[in-house]
Order: sequence, then C-alpha cells, then structure tokens
Amino acid sequence: MNSILIVNQLLRVKDNTLLIKAMKSKGLIAYYFLDHQQKEIASKAFPNKSFFARKFELESLHNLKINLERLNIPLIIDQVGSDHLATLVDRYSIDSLYSIDFATSDEQRLIEKAIKKAKTDLMWIKDHSDLLYPLQKLPFNLQELPEVFTVFRKKVEKYNIPEKPLAAPERPLSNALIIDSTSLPALSDLGYSNSTIDSRSAHPFKGGEDAGWERLDHYFWQTEALAKYKQTRNGLIGLDFSSKLSAYLAFGCLSPRSVYTEIKEFESSVIANQDTYWLFFELLWREYFKLISFKHKDRIFKIEGILNRSYEWGENNALFEKWIGGKTKDDFVNAAMIELKSTGWISNRARQNVASYWAKNLKQNWIWGARYFEAQLIDYDASANWGNWCYVSGVGNDPRDRKFNTQRQAEMYDPNNDYRRLWLQ
Ligand SMILES: Cc1cc2nc3c(=O)[nH]c(=O)nc-3n(C[C@H](O)[C@H](O)[C@H](O)COP(=O)(O)OP(=O)(O)OC[C@H]3O[C@@H](n4cnc5c(N)ncnc54)[C@H](O)[C@@H]3O)c2cc1C
Repeated sequence: MNSILIVNQLLRVKDNTLLIKAMKSKGLIAYYFLDHQQKEIASKAFPNKSFFARKFELESLHNLKINLERLNIPLIIDQVGSDHLATLVDRYSIDSLYSIDFATSDEQRLIEKAIKKAKTDLMWIKDHSDLLYPLQKLPFNLQELPEVFTVFRKKVEKYNIPEKPLAAPERPLSNALIIDSTSLPALSDLGYSNSTIDSRSAHPFKGGEDAGWERLDHYFWQTEALAKYKQTRNGLIGLDFSSKLSAYLAFGCLSPRSVYTEIKEFESSVIANQDTYWLFFELLWREYFKLISFKHKDRIFKIEGILNRSYEWGENNALFEKWIGGKTKDDFVNAAMIELKSTGWISNRARQNVASYWAKNLKQNWIWGARYFEAQLIDYDASANWGNWCYVSGVGNDPRDRKFNTQRQAEMYDPNNDYRRLWLQ
C-alpha cells in the first residue's frame, strides 16, 4: 500500500493528522502543486504570485522538505499543468491520495484531473486539518450555516472546543519508495529578478513552519504583545500591532488548532482578557469564510457574489492603474496601495479601506481588486480574500453593507500622518 500526501495548504509536520494517517502506508511521497501560471487583470498580465509571496512559499517548501526528509519522506514539487502526479501514481502503484478537503475548487480540480488520468484505482482521503472544527462537529449542517458572522460565532464558541493539536511524528518511515525530492527552484528560475525586502515592511518574515513558530513565540511569549492585541490591531506601521500569522496559516505552516491552543496556554499562564479573546475571535472569522466557501462554492468568485446581487460596475483600465500604483485622489488609499505593491502585505484596516474605495467610491469591478490582491498578497487565502472582498463590495456577508469614509478613517487611524508620510515620501 503506497500513498501520496498532497501538501498544498499543509506545509507542516506538527499537528498534521493527514501525515500521521498517511505514514501508516508502506511507501509515501509528499507532493506539492506550484501554480506559476500568469493571470490577466484589466488586460494586463500579472505573475500568479508576487515576488514576496513566492519567496515565502519557497522558504516554506524548503523548511518542509528538510523536516520531511528527517522522516524519510521525499517531497515532489510540480508546476501546475504537468501530468506528473498521474505518472507517479502509476509508476509507484499508489492506491491512496491524502489531502485537506479544499474549501475552493482549484486544487480539487487538479487532483480530480490526476485521478482521471491515472490508470490505477485510487482512494482519496480528505480531512479538515485547516479548520478549527471539522465540518461534522459543527452544531448545524453546512446548508444551515448562518449568513451573519455574529450568529455563527455565538453558535460555535458556546458549544465547541477545538481538538488538541498533534505532535510531529518522531520515527522515520522505513519508506518502500526510493525517489529523490525535487530541488527547489530559485526565484530567478521562475522569472523573478532580485528584489530586496523594503526596510519599511510590516511583514519582513520568512516562510516555513519553524519560522511560523518563531513568530508565534515572539508575539505571544517573548513580547507578550498578545495581551494588547485588541488595542493595537488597527495599527498600520511596525511588526507587532497584530499577530502576522496569516501567511503561516494560509500556507498551512501552522494549524489554527495550534494557534488556538497557544492562546489558551497564554490565558492560563500570563493573562486572559478581551485582547487574548479577540485573537480567537479573528480565527473564527477565518473559519467563517472557509465555511462560506464550502457552502457557496464558486459563487464567492462571481461578480454577483453570494447574494446574487447585480450592480453597475465600471471597468476603467486607467483607474485600475492609478489604484494599484497609489495615484488616486485619496492619500490614505495611495499609501496603502504603495505599501501593498512594495511589500506584498497591508494591515486589515488598510485592506478594508482600499477595497471599499475601489468597489464603493470608484464603483469599479470588485473582481479586479480581488484578483490583484490574490496576485500580490503574501498571505493570499482564497476563502479569506474572496469572502472579504464580497463582504466589502456589498455582495457578501455584511448585513449593513458599509462604505468606508477613507478620509475619516485616515484621521482616526493615521492622525499624525505617519503612515502616509512613510509610504508617500
Ligand atoms: C479585502 C480583504 C482581503 C483580505 N484577504 C486576505 C487573504 O487573502 N488572506 C488572509 O489570511 N486574510 C485576508 N484578509 C483578512 C485580514 O486582513 C488578514 O487576515 C490580516 O490582516 C492578517 O494579519 P494578521 O495575521 O496580523 O492578523 P491578526 O489580526 O493577527 O488576526 C489573526 C488571524 O485571524 C485571521 N483573520 C483576521 N482577520 C480576518 C478576516 N477579516 N478574514 C479572515 N481571516 C481573518 C487571519 O488568519 C489572521 O492571521 C483580507 C481582508 C480584507 C478586508
């Protein structure tokens, strides 16, 4: 019995239930789809991932490769579009594929394609390792998932406690399959010219499971910044105003259960307050958008969104250029868009403002905005990105359909102009 473990959104060895199950096989290969196709937005070609996101991804893969090699498990990395997965299945008589149950359809389709192409009969074993709560443990079925976050939150936080995370496997597999790991491509092999990290970046962090735990250790235990999270989370400048765990969660370097368990340990040994609760509250937002994707499937990618609501959307290429280049009439929006372009990351406050400005002030096709974020963000996560964009654009789960007054927001969150000065000078 030989197996392949698909590691997309699962770049870790700790709290990896699928890895533990798959290690019961005789032979095991870990496999990653690297998506390097270009995407078009507003008649313009963009790399599928920005330099910053690709760098984080490759660092995470490098770290995983080392951690898997200790367990005697090779890691194969293939570019999307190759038929290598089906070939591996046949060559190594694979009978089981393991992967998370992907909340959106892209990865799902790649695996289905490989299953169809392979001559061997395959079992596909999936779980919800990227969630706090497995779907079957929710106090309602998916079709009854509330369309308002607060209703969902009250239901789940009252009844459910996430399960304890699992330790990393210790004993290497006596792997029956002799196969070499893929050498990781360099950024230059993938067409990226050398780019350095901007010294102003709020997200200069390295990718990988080990780096994820270092970041968590710093934010929770070394600085105890978690104890003030709710008070600082609307910040715009610096390293510690929020947890900066999003990219580690998006690539699956850390599991949400691990972060939850660390919050609980912090609460019992340092302090339990509104701030510590609020990080859990944000993990519930992440969870909510994943569940929304399971429920509404590809509707989150459609212009009418999950509300199936039609608006008149403009499609002005010149406005798009101005928006992504930080050259609109709004200096707060401009500062954030320049930060996004220069670093691949902006805070939640900045994301809400630039997205609302694009969709509600300029009234432009929100899909262009979401696709630009998808290409640019280090922490891109399909459910979180498209769910938030639907929400901000009036076609998602915001019961109040709010519009941000960006100048008022600038006065509140950047009263001394520090943020705008940092990025506009
Ligand atoms: C238009 C728009 C697009 C976004 N796109 C993404 C995306 O592609 N990937 C992504 O991870 N987040 C996205 N977010 C949510 C949020 O902005 C980021 O998760 C957060 O800023 C990341 O910083 P942090 O890790 O320091 O978050 P913290 O404030 O420390 O929060 C802790 C964790 O909770 C989760 N979280 C927090 N807020 C949200 C939220 N609103 N929705 C979903 N999860 C949340 C994240 O996993 C985050 O790491 C988007 C928000 C908006 C408004």
